[in-house]
Amino acid sequence: MTKQGAFIHEIEEQKQLQINGVTDQVLAHLRATNMENRVNGSARSPITSTDQNGNTVVPVTNLSTGTQTNVVIQMNNGNVTRVVQ
Ligand SMILES: [Zn+2]
Repeated sequence: MTKQGAFIHEIEEQKQLQINGVTDQVLAHLRATNMENRVNGSARSPITSTDQNGNTVVPVTNLSTGTQTNVVIQMNNGNVTRVVQ
């Protein structure tokens, strides 16, 4: 995951909702994830899970090697405090 990918994800998601008239938040999120993957050169799952510590776990596949890793996003009071890749 990259900050560039996260940025384009949010831009595309809001474009889908505010300009393209998409009313389904999940569809907007899936389209945003596709755009994010194109920027990153990787495929991150649009489906995340929560680990035992309350962190968000995002599976990411490196498209050049096929290797899948989990990116763990640590949060505190709604703010990202650490991203472990
Ligand atoms: Zn999203």
